[in-house]
Amino acid sequence: MSTGYSNYICPTCNQQRRYVFDVEKHRKRVSRLSNGLVLYSDIHRCENGILGVCNIRVDNDLNVRGMDYVKLPSITVQKSSLGIPMAKAKPKSDFPEIVVDQCVGDARLKLIMSIKSIEIRVNFDNVDPLHDPVIDKLQSSNQDIDLYICGSNLSNYDILKVWLQIFIDLLDGTKPSLLGLLIEGLRYIVTLNDHLPTQEEIHILRMILYSYFIKVEEINQGAVGDLFRRKSSKKFKSKNSVINEFQYVIKITDEIVRNPTQPIVNLISLDPEHFIEILKLVDKLTVNGIISLSGI
Ligand SMILES: [Zn+2]
Repeated sequence: MSTGYSNYICPTCNQQRRYVFDVEKHRKRVSRLSNGLVLYSDIHRCENGILGVCNIRVDNDLNVRGMDYVKLPSITVQKSSLGIPMAKAKPKSDFPEIVVDQCVGDARLKLIMSIKSIEIRVNFDNVDPLHDPVIDKLQSSNQDIDLYICGSNLSNYDILKVWLQIFIDLLDGTKPSLLGLLIEGLRYIVTLNDHLPTQEEIHILRMILYSYFIKVEEINQGAVGDLFRRKSSKKFKSKNSVINEFQYVIKITDEIVRNPTQPIVNLISLDPEHFIEILKLVDKLTVNGIISLSGI
């Protein structure tokens, strides 16, 4: 296999990005396309540390000939008098489709999510209806989202299904307008599908999907200090390697003390590589009455 790469600058975070290819495979794909441009989705830590998706179109010589940043339309969910979002009657095939490649850990898991309130279909991992027959369809509680599960030989399928149902129920009604949050949510689920969801895990999933809306509201300053001292003395006594791993706790607790009212996404942006760990920490601080959250 010979590898090559394309450089481009993400229009949203202005990072210099490098997309790596298997050149042989790429040229084969080019030869099959009438316009000679292959579409790739470059998923990376973008603005605020949330995953962003940039679709790039690449020619035979690995030049990027076009790009667009993929974002779901902003959402205005109309509520009926009962507080139930009004589902629109359009068939799913009418919706424009967003294709997201290389998103979910298990390559066998392929999903199409049809979101009626914003009239969009998200195709996760490039489902090809000819080769990936739909094996199941789930619907969210207020019927805003249809999720088509495709693929075969999925491991722990019965458990995965429970997780996916919770996922779309959480999204139903108020949805994050950034695709990255959906991807983070799916990635989280995929790491946990060997057991049924616990309350804590559902809470974390909710924080992922709503991280722009959930705010740290109040703080018990003394308790943060106590917790921090207890944790640091325990950890610092162990091996040095743990200290680096532990830096995010220092950053996050410091930031909460300095600025007690802010959306969770601000905390994530301090150390996106510890995305899930930061949410677990926030959850722990909440359970222990050290901070409280609003908008959850
Ligand atoms: Zn970016």
